[in-house]
Amino acid sequence: MPMAYAYLDHNASSPLRPAALDAMVDALAAGGNPSSVHRTGRAARARVDRARRQVASLVDARPADIVFTSGGTEANALALRGAGRRRILISAVEHASVMAAAPHAQTIPVDCDGVVELAALERLLVANDEPTLVSVMAANNETGVLQPIDEVVRLARAAGALVHCDAVQAAGRPFDVDYLSLSAHKLGGPAGVGALVARAGAPLRPVIAGGGQESGRRGGTENVAGIVGFGAAAQEALGQRDLSLWRDRIEAALLAVAPGARVFGAGARRLGNTSCLGMPGVPAETQVMALDLAGVCVSAGAACSSGKVARSAVLAAMGVAADEADTALRISLGWNNVPGDIDRLIAAWRELYIRVGRSDMSPARAA
Ligand code: PLP
Repeated sequence: MPMAYAYLDHNASSPLRPAALDAMVDALAAGGNPSSVHRTGRAARARVDRARRQVASLVDARPADIVFTSGGTEANALALRGAGRRRILISAVEHASVMAAAPHAQTIPVDCDGVVELAALERLLVANDEPTLVSVMAANNETGVLQPIDEVVRLARAAGALVHCDAVQAAGRPFDVDYLSLSAHKLGGPAGVGALVARAGAPLRPVIAGGGQESGRRGGTENVAGIVGFGAAAQEALGQRDLSLWRDRIEAALLAVAPGARVFGAGARRLGNTSCLGMPGVPAETQVMALDLAGVCVSAGAACSSGKVARSAVLAAMGVAADEADTALRISLGWNNVPGDIDRLIAAWRELYIRVGRSDMSPARAA
């Protein structure tokens, strides 16, 4: 049955995959605490172990390196606080959860496409010989811009620094880092579960201590159903299609409608599923509401968790002027989209432009 609306907001949360739902229902029905030694406990432990292998395969890691958490936010906090490095360098476009976990971190600037300036990172690394942790995300949640993680790792290792990478929006690509953050609901698993992949030998003190779960790295009875759903989603995400042709089609069509529009981060390598662009002169909230009425779900470029639109720190770091940034939409595709979703977005955006956008670009306003 065709969907009644087009969901193009996978970077906010990707709909639950049927395989994840089925696996979770089974796990919820079976119950059990993985620490119990009786048969129910052992069955729950087997479910968690299987999910650990599935998540490990997604990122080419060892199952023993996976620490299940309550999501990407906690995985980021665990890496930044648990690594035990006082000096932390983070890129200027990190997710709020990284910034909040390291409020005293020094910032690595980005260029106008949102890519970290490697020369600036190198200068920061050599300026101080205090043991350092470098945290740079794999892909930006607003723009989809990919960071040169291999080069970041090379520079950091040469300076003896540890590296954390928030790969919440780029799960499925292996990265040779010390700590890697993942979140289930960005790949079609449930919200409220994620993982930190901590390389063997990388220091890691628990932030939540307790009953010794996760080999003493994260206390608390495991969220078995959530973890199982994460594992099932991870297994399916391994076969994720490349959506860049659809993304390119959207961008070409929207730019043809509104030639004054600009794709943010267009000069950089980007995720194939994400586009950040806006209708000139029309606030992002207006676009989001109009598209919603037309049955298309997208986000304002900088929607925060409360649903309010704050000015985008990511676009500001890229040097985008505030009035232009305030028009930025984020369109993000995922596993269950069909070509009709793209047609629906393009038609609704064109209709909005004819109604609002063009009139808003009156000579007085455009001057
Ligand atoms: N990191 C990035 C890049 C994200 O996009 C998000 C979610 O929006 C998070 C971390 C936080 O993940 P979670 O929602 O699982 O806490």
